[in-house]
Amino acid sequence: MSEARALSVVLDQELLALNRVVGALRRCNLRVSSMTLGPAGNGGETAGAACLTVVIEGDARMAEMMAKKLRKLTGVRNAEAYAVDASPSTGKATMEGTGLRVYYDADADLNRLSRRTVAVIGYGSQGHAHALNLHESGISVIVGLRPDGPSWAKAKADGLDVRPFADAAAAADVIMILVPDQHARAVYEAAVAAHVRAGKTLMFAHGFNVHYKEIVPPAGVDVSMVAPKSPGHLVRSEYQAGRGVPALVAVAQDASGHALADALAYATGIGCTRAGVLPTTFREETESDLFGEQVVLCGGVPALIKAGFETLVAAGYAPELAYFECLHELKLIVDLMYRGGMKFMRYSISDTAEYGDYTRGPRIVTPAVRAEMQQILADIRSGAFAREWIDEARAGAPNFQRLRQAERHHLIEEVGARLRAMMPWSEEGKATAQARADAGPAAARRRSDPPRVTTR
Ligand code: NAP
Ligand code: MG
Repeated sequence: MSEARALSVVLDQELLALNRVVGALRRCNLRVSSMTLGPAGNGGETAGAACLTVVIEGDARMAEMMAKKLRKLTGVRNAEAYAVDASPSTGKATMEGTGLRVYYDADADLNRLSRRTVAVIGYGSQGHAHALNLHESGISVIVGLRPDGPSWAKAKADGLDVRPFADAAAAADVIMILVPDQHARAVYEAAVAAHVRAGKTLMFAHGFNVHYKEIVPPAGVDVSMVAPKSPGHLVRSEYQAGRGVPALVAVAQDASGHALADALAYATGIGCTRAGVLPTTFREETESDLFGEQVVLCGGVPALIKAGFETLVAAGYAPELAYFECLHELKLIVDLMYRGGMKFMRYSISDTAEYGDYTRGPRIVTPAVRAEMQQILADIRSGAFAREWIDEARAGAPNFQRLRQAERHHLIEEVGARLRAMMPWSEEGKATAQARADAGPAAARRRSDPPRVTTR
C-alpha cells in the first residue's frame, strides 16, 4: 500500500501556470487521488496567488522531488510536500493508530458559504484572522464591534465592513463569536441573541459558553465550533503563506442537517482544512482545553519554571544563571519535542541530562501532583472552575488583576528583561537595537558595553 502525500502549490492566478503544474504532474505519471484549487490569500508573497493542493500516492522522497521540480516552474511561487494518512478504500483521511477522521480541503466545500454572510463578532487574536482570511477566501464578511473600542478603527483600516454588534448579527446568516470567553454572554445577550433566528448558524472557537450553558442558543439554529489550535496571528500568517493551522470542529445543534458541512466550509475559509480538521464535541474540547492550559501549558509550566528559579536563587546562585537554566533553555527543549517528540529531544540532549530526566522527573511530578491534576480535572468537569471564573469576571476581576500585577514584578521577569536585551530576536533586544539606531553612532560604539547584572 503506497502512502498518501499532499503537494501544496502556491502559483500565479494564471491558466498558464496551472497548465505547467498539471503538465509536470502528468509527465511524472503520478496517481492523483484528489485536487483542490482555491485562493491563497492576498497578503505578502501570496498576493494574487492561487493554491493548488494535490494528494498523490507515493512516498516522502517522491513527493519531495516533485515539490522541488514544481518550485522551478515559472509562475510557481512555492511548493511543499507533506504527509497525509489516507485510507485508500474510502479516500477519507484518518489518523494512524486511533482511526480518528481528519477533514482536509477535499472534504469541504467553501461554496456552501458563498451565498451567506458571516458576522465575525470581535476583532482580537482570532477575530482579525478569521475575518481577513474569510474575506480573502471570497466570503462576504461583516465585523461586529463596539464603536467606542480600539478594534473598530483597526478593522476599518484593514478594509472590512465594520458595524455595531447588533447590526452585524442582524445582517448575517452565520455569526461567529470571537470576543473573550468571559464577556461573550454579555455581548450575546445585549446585542446578538435577538438576531439568532431559525435557519441561522451560531459559531464559536471554544466550547466554554455553550458547554457551561452561559449561552443557550434557541432551537432551530445550527450551533457549531471551529477552534484553530493556534493563536490568531498564526491562523493569519499560515493562511497568507498558502498553508493553514490544524483545527477542531464540533456541532452542538444540527437544526439544518448540514451543520457539519457548513462548519467545514468555514474551516476552509480560514485555511484550516489545508492542515487538517479533527472532529470533537463541545464538551471534549472545552474540558481538554481548560485542563491542558491549567495543568501543563499556562499553569504547570510557568509554576515549574518559577519554582526552579526560586530554588536556585534562594540557594545563592546568580539569578541570571537561574534564568538561563530554568526559562531560556526551555525553548530549546520544547522545540526538539515539537519537532520529533520526546524521543527526538532525548536523542539530542546529553546522556547525563537524559538520566536525570528518567530518575528525577518522577520525583517532581509525584503521586500528590497527579492527584492534584485529577482534582483540577474534576473541577473543570463539574463546572466549578467555570463558575469561579465567571463570578470573578462578573465582579470586575479584582483577584485576576491583583495576581496579574504581582506576577509582573517577579524577579524572574526583571532579570529576564535585562538578559533578553542582549538577545537581538527578543522584544527587549529589538527595542535596544532600535534605541541604539535612534541615538546614532556614539551609542552604537557602546554596543559591547556589558549588560547591568543583578548583584547578590
Ligand atoms: P481577544 O483577542 O481577547 O478578543 C478581543 C476582541 O474582543 C476585541 O475586538 C475587543 O474589542 C473585543 N472585546 C473585548 N472585551 C470586550 C467586551 N467586554 N465587550 C465587547 N467586546 C469586547 O479574544 P481571542 O483570544 O481572539 O478569543 C476569542 C475566542 O477564540 C475565545 O472563545 C477563545 O477561547 C477562542 N480561541 C482563542 C485562541 C487564542 O489563541 N487567542 C485560540 C483558539 C480559540 P475592543 O477593541 O472593542 O475592546
Ligand atoms: Mg488551547
